[in-house]
Amino acid sequence: MSKDMDIINTLESEVRSYCRSFPTVFTQAKGYKMWDQKGKEYLDFFAGAGALNYGHNNPKMKEKLIEYITNDGITHSLDMASTAKAEFLNKFNEVILKPRKLEYKVMFPGPTGTNTVESALKLARKVTGRTDIISFTNGFHGMTIGSLSVTGNSMKRKGAGIPLQNVVTMPYDNYVDNQDSLDYLERFLEDSGSGVAIPAAMILETVQGEGGINAASFEWLKKVESICKRWGILLIVDDVQAGVGRTGTFFSFEGAEIKPDIVCLSKSLSGYGVPFAITLIRPDIDKFQPGEHNGTFRGNNHAFVTATSALDYWKDDEFEKDIKVKSEMIYSFLEKMVATYPELKGEVRGRGFMVGIASEVDGLPNKIAAKAFENGLIMETSGPLDEVFKLFPPLTIDEQGLKSGFEIIEESIKSIVKEPVTS
Ligand code: PMP
Repeated sequence: MSKDMDIINTLESEVRSYCRSFPTVFTQAKGYKMWDQKGKEYLDFFAGAGALNYGHNNPKMKEKLIEYITNDGITHSLDMASTAKAEFLNKFNEVILKPRKLEYKVMFPGPTGTNTVESALKLARKVTGRTDIISFTNGFHGMTIGSLSVTGNSMKRKGAGIPLQNVVTMPYDNYVDNQDSLDYLERFLEDSGSGVAIPAAMILETVQGEGGINAASFEWLKKVESICKRWGILLIVDDVQAGVGRTGTFFSFEGAEIKPDIVCLSKSLSGYGVPFAITLIRPDIDKFQPGEHNGTFRGNNHAFVTATSALDYWKDDEFEKDIKVKSEMIYSFLEKMVATYPELKGEVRGRGFMVGIASEVDGLPNKIAAKAFENGLIMETSGPLDEVFKLFPPLTIDEQGLKSGFEIIEESIKSIVKEPVTS
């Protein structure tokens, strides 16, 4: 073991996780590739769990950031006014909101996904005066108490150490075969004997990133929106992982033609892997008092600079078209894997660049991901039982990169499914 790995294993808390799944010490990264201390090259089909949709060290963003730092641009300023902030807001409005006919106020809640979710839940409770939130089975929204309370995973929930309250979990799309989960949900709202009070908000991911790459149909999402409207419930879309192009469009809900009341964005928003999050709020419910929800690291200026540069990808529809072509390649590769290797007992799940194979065979996805790592490709598993292996390359990967990745993944599947069974 290297000295660097040794200090990490000795001194870093037991809670460390990704350095256990990918046990090497990384030194450099560029685009869809990473290198470790031994000079071994890896294809990155993990992309910072969706935080690196534009790849590592994107050259245009890097140039802007270096220029900004060299000129002594403001680094830290809480939420004071800065030119970097103004430029980001202006471009986000022009390139993202206006062309989509979306009107939102932009809140800077602190730099992580869980920060934006916490702010969304607090705001929904404040605006409606109600306490409860409806969340959905296998949803994942973060690790602080509020966002954990709307997260399904029992291991993660247990980590809270206190009761997680004021949340009712309802079945996500297709949670139970042949049952319309929204008829079920609506029955609870209609029936004053159901024990479920009208909530402040419903929170959901359009494709569940950590909960098993379950993609809700656009019809289901539309119906959620109409139920929310009927009962005066706010709709929060947590686009922390599915947003910023991951499912094929900037916001993951565009295809469903819905307009959530609150949208949570983080991960790839800065474009460069720099911590950054925003909460988008329907203007008439923008009701926090000044400073009522604050924090030291709101308005990360370096993130403003790289995020502003990243928005160039969305100035026309070229990038979206490119994502579509490549996501079709990924989808057909996965379909081919399921057909060629029946031992997988697999099913393709997801949308756009947010896809994977769910396997009915216990432990198989983890074995395949570990083998892929040995073979030089980084990918993770997802779902309550790690039943899915997840393909998450940067959206900027080229066709050659995809093909090389497919070869490693197929090789890894082949060697695992042909392994003799040991008991
Ligand atoms: N929401 C979703 C949908 C996520 O996938 C995540 C992170 N995986 C979060 C919230 C929390 O983000 P963070 O880890 O930055 O707090």
